[in-house]
Amino acid sequence: RAKAKGKSCYEVFDKEMYAQALAQLQLENDMRQALERNEFQVYYQPIVSTQMGKIAGFEALIRWQHPTRGFVSPAEFIPLAEETGAIVPIGEWILGSVCQQIKRWQEQFSFTFPLKVSVNLSAKQFRDTDFLRKIDKILMQTGLEGGNLQLELTESMLMDDVENLIGILSQLRVRGIQLSIDDFGTGYSSLSYLHRFPVNYLKIDRSFVKGLGDNTESLKITESIVALAHNLKLAAIAEGVETKEQLMQLRQLGCEYVQGYLFSPPVPAKAATKWLAKLFDAAKATNYDGSGAMPLSN
Ligand code: C2E
Ligand code: MG
Ligand code: MG
Ligand code: MG
Repeated sequence: RAKAKGKSCYEVFDKEMYAQALAQLQLENDMRQALERNEFQVYYQPIVSTQMGKIAGFEALIRWQHPTRGFVSPAEFIPLAEETGAIVPIGEWILGSVCQQIKRWQEQFSFTFPLKVSVNLSAKQFRDTDFLRKIDKILMQTGLEGGNLQLELTESMLMDDVENLIGILSQLRVRGIQLSIDDFGTGYSSLSYLHRFPVNYLKIDRSFVKGLGDNTESLKITESIVALAHNLKLAAIAEGVETKEQLMQLRQLGCEYVQGYLFSPPVPAKAATKWLAKLFDAAKATNYDGSGAMPLSN
């Protein structure tokens, strides 16, 4: 009897694993077709200057509207896309889509305002030997200046072949593209190399920001990351800012930029456009000349 029970347990376990593998495979297949079917969308989350309270730019975040499963989180499909290599065409699509959108905003709002949009890069994309050529092609096709584009890398992407990496990063900087290290503090940065990478920003991971206000440990870590950024002559961006208390502390620490639900969740391009239009009307009313960052008001 015990044996029979054991066997059935084993079968159940086996079936679950099988179902899981099948679901994974299905998702992979769906992902391959998602580009052609126009199921991906780019959402935009504002990045706000802490001192001036003005919008400095947006972070672009991908969204997948699956035909039957509904919304699939990037946390779920990006790792899968990395594994299968699908991230390369998807990443290219995101870059093209973002550059086109910035250009459209510039045209619509009639002057080339200094708005920057930050795009997350995946390791595979970055290691693609065609990467720089693809960037150039997208900038040329959309007529966008590199200075409007910012790219986010993670610490793990900065681990191997330092000399080669510095070469690629420098090439991006030559094009005016700015660089940040995303989720800083969660990976394994080699601090001895950090100063050699021509990056502009450290993005403080949400896990540290979350504890600000009621956790002295988080405060100490956040303080250290801001200090490290400043010692390296970089600016700090805090992600996942949800409360006024967190904002106050980040301001006191001298963290230059913040982003999070306190200001806005990521929104579709259409919503971001409406928002920009409102901001521009307000800017006109106050004779804002478009220099520096944009004023943040209702
Ligand atoms: P990330 O680049 O660190 O992006 C920040 C994540 O935090 C986003 O999740 C954003 O929606 C979320 N977030 C922003 N503010 C808050 C807040 O105040 N509270 C909380 N709880 N969350 C907040 P999302 O959009 O689900 O993206 C998750 C991750 O997926 C990203 O982390 C990034 O690593 C990856 N990802 C997203 N879009 C892309 C993309 O276009 N390309 C690549 N390669 N990766 C992407
Ligand atoms: Mg990011
Ligand atoms: Mg991040
Ligand atoms: Mg993060």
